[in-house]
Amino acid sequence: MVQRNPCIANIKAGYLFPEIGKRRREFAAAHPGAKIISLGIGNTTEPIPSHIDGGLVAGAKDLAAMENYSGYGDEQGLTALREKIAAVLYRGMVAADEVFISDGAKCDIGRLQLLFGAGTKAAVQDPSYPVYVDGSVLIGAGGAWEESGYKGIIYLPCTAENNYFPDLSLLPENGLVYFCSPNNPTGAVADRGQLAALVEAARRKGSVIIYDAAYSEYIRDPTLPKSIYEIEGATLCAIEVNSFSKPAGFTGVRLGWSVVPKALKYASGESINADWNRICTTIFNGASNIAQAGGLAALDEEGLKEIQALTDFYLGNAKLIRSALQKLNISCVGGDNSPYIWAHFPGRDSWEVFSEILEKCQVVTTPGVGFGPAGQSFIRFSAFGHRADVEEACERLSHW
Ligand code: PLP
Repeated sequence: MVQRNPCIANIKAGYLFPEIGKRRREFAAAHPGAKIISLGIGNTTEPIPSHIDGGLVAGAKDLAAMENYSGYGDEQGLTALREKIAAVLYRGMVAADEVFISDGAKCDIGRLQLLFGAGTKAAVQDPSYPVYVDGSVLIGAGGAWEESGYKGIIYLPCTAENNYFPDLSLLPENGLVYFCSPNNPTGAVADRGQLAALVEAARRKGSVIIYDAAYSEYIRDPTLPKSIYEIEGATLCAIEVNSFSKPAGFTGVRLGWSVVPKALKYASGESINADWNRICTTIFNGASNIAQAGGLAALDEEGLKEIQALTDFYLGNAKLIRSALQKLNISCVGGDNSPYIWAHFPGRDSWEVFSEILEKCQVVTTPGVGFGPAGQSFIRFSAFGHRADVEEACERLSHW
C-alpha cells in the first residue's frame, strides 16, 4: 500500500477547535436546555452589508447573461480588483501586478510555504494563528515534534512582560518570520517603531516576513500601521496577506489577496514575485468571479463605509466584553483595534478556566494554550457574535 506522507503524521496540533466542540457538546448533553453562547471562534455572524452584497448579486447575474458571462479568469485575479486594492488599500505603495487575488488568507499562507520548501526555518509569534505552524509541518519545514514544540519552528514568546512584541534577537538567519498584526489571538497591534525594528531585523538576518494583516480594518488608532509596506524597506523583505473575510463578512464567500513585491528576491537574486506567479498559475485557478465582483463593490466609497460600520459593530462587542472583564479585575489586552480580547489568569491552566466559564456562565471561549505554549493561563474572547448574545454573555460573566 502507499505510504502516508510522514509530514502529516508529524502534525500534533489542529485539535483545538474539535476539542472545544467536544467539550461544548458534552456540557450541552449534561445540561439540556442550557443556552450556550459562543465567544469562542473567529467566525463572522452579521450579514454582508447591502451594497457589497449587491456586488456579489450582480456578479452572479452576469453569469446568466450571454453578453456578460465569464469562465476561467486570470489566476492572479481580475485586473480591476488588483488595481483597486493597490490604489485604495495601499495608496500606491505597491503595484497592481504585485497583488495576487486568492480564495482567502489561510489558503495563501499554505501555498506561500511552497516558495521556500522544507529546509527553511520558520519563526512564529507565540501564541499565533495555527496555520503558520501546521502549514510549515505539512511541507516538512516544521520538523519533528518535541516536548517544547516543533524542532524546525522558532517560537517567539509574546507575553505580558514584553508587551506582546517578541524579542527580535531570536529571529532566524535566512528564514521565515510569520507576523500577525492586529494579532490573533492576543489582539495586540504593532506600532510603527516596532514594525520598523522588525523590518530592520529581518533585512539584517536575510529573512522574509510573512505579514498577516487579516484584521487591519479593525485598526482605529490612526498612528498604527495597517500594512507592513508603510515601513521603509519592507518591500525588500516582506510578503503581506490579507482578506475580505473579517472586514466584509466574506468568511464563507472566500476572497483574499497576497502582495509579493517585485523587489523581493531569494539569496540567489531570483524573483520571489515570479515564482509566486508560477505557483498561483500552477496549483490555483483563480478566485471566484462572483466573489471578486463583491470585492470590487467592497472597495468603492459605499463599500468602504459599510466595512467601517461592520467592523465598528464588532469593535462595539469587543468593548462590552472588555469592560465586563475589567469590572471583574481580570487583566486583558486587545479589543480596541482588534476583535479579540486576550485575558490573563496568572497561575491557572487555560483549559481549567475555559471549563469554569462554560460551567458557570454557559459561555464558550478559547483556551489560550491552544495557540502556542506562551498562551498558557490566557483565554481568548472573540467579539464575533450577535449583539444580544454578547450582552447576555457579559451579563452572565458579571455574576461569575
Ligand atoms: N489570518 C488570521 C490571523 C486569521 O485569524 C484568519 C481567520 O480566522 C485568517 C487569516 C483566515 O482568513 P481567510 O478567511 O481569508 O482564509
